Amino acid sequence: MGSPHIVVIPYPAQGHVIPFMELSQCLAKQGFRITFVNTEYNHKRVLKALRGDINLGGGIGLVSLPDGLEPCGDRNELGKLSKAIFQVMPEKLEELIDRISMSEGEKITCIITDWSMGWALEVAEKMKIRRAIYWPAAAAVLCSLISIPKLLRDGIIDGDGTPLNNQMIQLAPTMPAMDTANFAWACLGDFTTQKIIFDLTVKTNEAAKMADRIISNSAYDLEPGAFSFAPNILPIGPLQASNRLGDQLGYFWPEDSTCLKWLDQQPPKSVVYVAFGSFTVFDKTQFQELARGLELSSRSFLWVVRPDITTETNDAYPEGFQERVATRGRMVGWAPQQKVLSHPSVSCFLSHCGWNSTVEGVSNGVPFLCWPYFADQFLNETYICDVWKVGLKFDKNKCGIITREEIKKKVETVICDEKIKARAAELKRLATQNVGEAGYSSQNLKNFIEWIKS
Ligand code: UDP
Repeated sequence: MGSPHIVVIPYPAQGHVIPFMELSQCLAKQGFRITFVNTEYNHKRVLKALRGDINLGGGIGLVSLPDGLEPCGDRNELGKLSKAIFQVMPEKLEELIDRISMSEGEKITCIITDWSMGWALEVAEKMKIRRAIYWPAAAAVLCSLISIPKLLRDGIIDGDGTPLNNQMIQLAPTMPAMDTANFAWACLGDFTTQKIIFDLTVKTNEAAKMADRIISNSAYDLEPGAFSFAPNILPIGPLQASNRLGDQLGYFWPEDSTCLKWLDQQPPKSVVYVAFGSFTVFDKTQFQELARGLELSSRSFLWVVRPDITTETNDAYPEGFQERVATRGRMVGWAPQQKVLSHPSVSCFLSHCGWNSTVEGVSNGVPFLCWPYFADQFLNETYICDVWKVGLKFDKNKCGIITREEIKKKVETVICDEKIKARAAELKRLATQNVGEAGYSSQNLKNFIEWIKS
């Protein structure tokens, strides 16, 4: 018999593909063969971003399946995308597994699927394949999803997932307070999107009962309350390329690594790193206010401005902005973020608080300025500012805008706050310890690997 063969299925979003690729690389290093399933749309993006430089390390094969949307369909409409996937991908996955089994004459050992692709567990069960869920976000968010039946019973949400009274709740006394208006499914866009995602989540809660294991890209010391609340969720993270001294893979946009050379030329702890992940979109007013805030601050900055970050099709910068900040500001379309965050020149991270960005910042001991956009990012902000106390929130003005003066003020405050810096350094120590040789996350990952091999 050859090496055990695992099929890995991330939800088709950048913040899912990256941690799944990270896990795949850890498993490939242990001798597993991995078939990594992207949607056709994302598969093309990943290959294009790699610019033909495909070096995934031995053992990982990239394959693709249709997501059920037209080629020009809007993949940022998460409700439509998730519904289409649910209708089309289960059958396609079954065919793929049959094809692999026929061509190689042996069975798939295990399927590792995203929670958000929970239908794959039913396929696995039907095909008598072992199955595990990998949750790439905060465990506390998963706790809120599995608590939906109780939230319904307690009258905290209605049958559409809408919070009945906006209030702060705690799922357990040791867990962070959650604003019910910020439940992940309740802040994904319009009501139709919420309803589709909520209904699929309810279905996934059922399918998840078929999972043999649930692992998550978090650490016990980051979320002790959540892991006590749901002891069946096992932390194995934060997994990062830096843990294995490799490159981060699976980008949807080509990385601009010239910013690392620029960082090399900046004094230690002098640069504000500004990045909003893969989804955040700004209207022109807020985008320009952010630009003016960075300009107003006297600090150097590295700002990731994705080609699709504004609703404008043309150049959205304030007039003359690029010339005025040229000596101390650098804008790139997509940065090698983990390398940037570990660079000694970075002083703080102005972030949208996606979970990957959160654990990457934490793992590097960088203080945060939090600018959450949607979904789970509000809870992550709570962790950063209220629980770990390693960052600050922005206040909006009466019109809902974060003003340039507010940006300047908070940049100065966080950079000068020695207590925040000390806590960030301590949290880095804890996070790193968890993925160190004898760490709890490493132990869980080893056990998980043994289970797949057994
Ligand atoms: N990222 C990156 N370069 C960038 C911006 C983001 O490599 O310029 C990576 C980042 O390191 C993280 C992922 O993209 O791993 C974004 O995931 P996250 O959960 O933070 O946010 P999402 O994109 O899901 O909103």
